[in-house]
Amino acid sequence: MEFKLDRYALEEKDLFTAGNPNCRKITEEQIHKFEGYAAEILTGLGMDLATPSTCETPRRYIQALIEATEGYDGDPKLLKTFATECFSDPDCRVSQVIEGPINFFSLCEHHALPFYGMAYVGYIAQENIIGISKLTRLVRIFAKRFAVQERIGQQVADTLEAMLHPQGVAVFLEAHHLCVEMRGVREQSPKTRTTVWRGLYAADHSLRSEFFTASGLER
Ligand SMILES: [Zn+2]
Repeated sequence: MEFKLDRYALEEKDLFTAGNPNCRKITEEQIHKFEGYAAEILTGLGMDLATPSTCETPRRYIQALIEATEGYDGDPKLLKTFATECFSDPDCRVSQVIEGPINFFSLCEHHALPFYGMAYVGYIAQENIIGISKLTRLVRIFAKRFAVQERIGQQVADTLEAMLHPQGVAVFLEAHHLCVEMRGVREQSPKTRTTVWRGLYAADHSLRSEFFTASGLER
């Protein structure tokens, strides 16, 4: 079954490259300018760009930033969903599909510094399912942007709800935030944990426990 892009596009215009007029375009000319800005900033901060090790650093830095934010480019491979095969089976109704740990890296939109960690995504299907690898793509499409951790979880849940109309969605993320850790004085590096519960998960505590147990996150 083809996911109805136009319906969903009303809510999240920049999700998919396919048919997305706002898909980002970075020209060679812009990249050249960005490298100039990066050179100016890095030099101003104290880096000597006139060494064999650093002369290419502005170029590498801009390239790394472009790659770290390629979630803005969308991912047309997300579009396909499938009908469940156990539509009428009562056992299927509350069976969870859980994927994780999904490694992710993101840039916090407050400091443009990395935060990174693990995501676990679960859902309880109704009529449609999605390939399990797509859950990884889904996390990364939202993580590889300038983001806040809570919003990544909400966006993953929103998208799964819009694509699959599932009976429930669970998203758990835990991450290290370099903007906190680099500037902090604490000896232990804290992890930030966020959860999103939708549908049956919001209503049923035992499903949340099962999600944590099945994910190896029991707490
Ligand atoms: Zn930050």
